[in-house]
Amino acid sequence: MSPEFARKLFAQSCDFVCGAPAVENLPPQTLPEVAFVGRSNVGKSSLLNALVNRRTLARVSNTPGRTREINFFRLGDALMLVDLPGYGYARASKSLAAEWQRQITGYLTARANLRRVVLLIDARRGIMPIDREAMALLDRAAVSYVPVLTKTDKLKATERAEITASVAAEAQTHAAAYPEIVATSAEKGDGIDALRQHLAALARP
Ligand code: GDP
Repeated sequence: MSPEFARKLFAQSCDFVCGAPAVENLPPQTLPEVAFVGRSNVGKSSLLNALVNRRTLARVSNTPGRTREINFFRLGDALMLVDLPGYGYARASKSLAAEWQRQITGYLTARANLRRVVLLIDARRGIMPIDREAMALLDRAAVSYVPVLTKTDKLKATERAEITASVAAEAQTHAAAYPEIVATSAEKGDGIDALRQHLAALARP
């Protein structure tokens, strides 16, 4: 996908469509869809904001009452961006909550138009046990997902290269994981264009 197409796509207006607390409330499948998921605090809101170049977009998703909802944002007439609830909320939670798994599995199996899941991994931590559970859930649902590192600005170049290689190697052992990963920093802008290009290839032309 040309960088020019990706840039134009992500320069379009991005508007909040709705928040769905349950599968019954999902909006009609009018556009190809990509969903973002990760541990809470992984940097999901910051990354969404960086992608669409708005400071406040994903703030919607972080307002009280909406954090457990599946939030839909329409990018022009080309792509639906879906902000899934984060996992591992409680500080002590080492496993995916049953309720979260039900909600996410319900979403994944209901959306024929879902093109890819963006699985966010904190670059400082790498893939944690709870992320592995999320990967296993995505493997079972047979949904294509791309691991994306966040907050790479917090690492030195050598550490960044190491973690990128190890996450990519682990992703290759998962049936549904996309073979290439993207390393990003919402703060510095690194990898944002690369991720835009990855997603633009899935958008309605
Ligand atoms: P969410 O809970 O996954 O939506 O995470 P947020 O986007 O709210 O970010 C969680 C924390 O990480 C906030 O304090 C952000 O400022 C910080 N953060 C997010 N992205 C980056 C990044 O690219 N670099 C750095 N250094 N911090 C980040």
